[in-house]
Amino acid sequence: MLKKVLIANRGEIALRILRACREMGIATVAVHSEADRESLHVKLADESVCIGPAPSPQSYLNIPALISAAEVTGADAIHPGYGFLAENANFAEQVEKSGFIFIGPKADTIRLMGDKVSAKHAMIEAGVPCVPGSEGALSDDPAEILKTADKVGFPVIIKASGGGGGRGMRVVEKKEDLIKAVEMTKAEAEAAFGNPMVYMERFLQRPRHVEIQVLADEHGNAIYLGERDCSMQRRHQKIIEEAPAPFITPEERAKIGQSCADACKRIGYRGAGTFEFLYEDGEFFFIEMNTRVQVEHPITELVTGVDIVQEQLRVAAGLPLQYRQEDIVLKGHAFECRINAEDPYTFIPSPGLIESCHLPGGLGVRVDSHIYQGYKIPPNYDSLIGKICVHGKTRELAVAKMRVAMDELAVNGIKTNAPLHRDLFRDEGFIKGGVSIHYLEHWLAERKERLAKEKA
Ligand code: ADP
Repeated sequence: MLKKVLIANRGEIALRILRACREMGIATVAVHSEADRESLHVKLADESVCIGPAPSPQSYLNIPALISAAEVTGADAIHPGYGFLAENANFAEQVEKSGFIFIGPKADTIRLMGDKVSAKHAMIEAGVPCVPGSEGALSDDPAEILKTADKVGFPVIIKASGGGGGRGMRVVEKKEDLIKAVEMTKAEAEAAFGNPMVYMERFLQRPRHVEIQVLADEHGNAIYLGERDCSMQRRHQKIIEEAPAPFITPEERAKIGQSCADACKRIGYRGAGTFEFLYEDGEFFFIEMNTRVQVEHPITELVTGVDIVQEQLRVAAGLPLQYRQEDIVLKGHAFECRINAEDPYTFIPSPGLIESCHLPGGLGVRVDSHIYQGYKIPPNYDSLIGKICVHGKTRELAVAKMRVAMDELAVNGIKTNAPLHRDLFRDEGFIKGGVSIHYLEHWLAERKERLAKEKA
């Protein structure tokens, strides 16, 4: 087994990884910026190293500082968490070249799946269903582009191969706008990602976001842990997730899940990963793969009983997965609410001092958070301050549980998005289940309109 793991991250995920290591008897090294000295992951780790000033390019993204910290502390492996360097193939490569284990897939796999054109190509070859679109990158020839669009059918979406985080995409409704839109997306992609390559897909009108969690080891085993529905998004940022996805049949789950597990074997995938799909009219369409642990992994842990982070650690140590596909049985229903330090309706970040707080608890309630009374949230990083998850026998019971948990949550001194969650868990449309990725944006727009009218 691994002996000492350096956690190259902060916040709730650093804590999550730390706990998994502790339970397995693995020593932990926390790294932190100057702004994070008082963080819980620093206080709870066996050792900690300051890796630089507050701005993340000088600390959490500072590869030489992270590798020296691993050297100085004698760690044998590095866990990147999510965000920061988690999907940076060069980081994975440098970690391994420096003689440490990277807790994640091989650098080449990260590279393959990080480029959307090559990822899509690999998925088509592996038999995973993709959104109909251009075969690979779009040509420079306008006549060819028009021909492709006619074949795909309008509206289409032009996407940057190197894009991420919801950037580098443009929807085109009509033929007349196509060539200009392609040129603009190319120019933006070159400026933002240093790669002008773009491709085309049919723009799906009312899809849901449904993703498959996978685990794979270096002994040729790959399994799927069911799916999550992450359709409740604002600006492509997930806010509420649930597992399993409403109205997905066991047959649909088995079919898409198995095709993801098979794809893992085919590309030599290692560790935890997620295949993201858009789901519309009973069909799955692959959009991208995340080659890391995800924010919303706890809801899958709740319904499967599998500790995903501990499996990552075992796989990194060269051990086989502890589970076979037939061991994975989904039980009950789980929700996750992401708690952000921000205004619940304007989404303006609200860092600062937590004067007091009360976190919910009870049967079937799981809280992953690094906040505590007296903790000062630095303004330098993303606004996620914790995740409240619930697990109930049925979806209805899980909804009731989340209402109680959210009503109990109290964070004083800063603003959080808890009021938004309280509203949404009483919203008829959301409670019914199966809403599209546009539901929350429409809901927010309607709320704004209604309030404006009431005021007038
Ligand atoms: P990123 O890596 O930037 O997150 P994705 O490819 O995952 O990019 O797409 C992000 C989001 O953009 C999706 O969750 C969906 O909301 C929207 N999107 C992407 N492709 C399509 C498509 N073909 N049709 C409709 N919406 C899409």
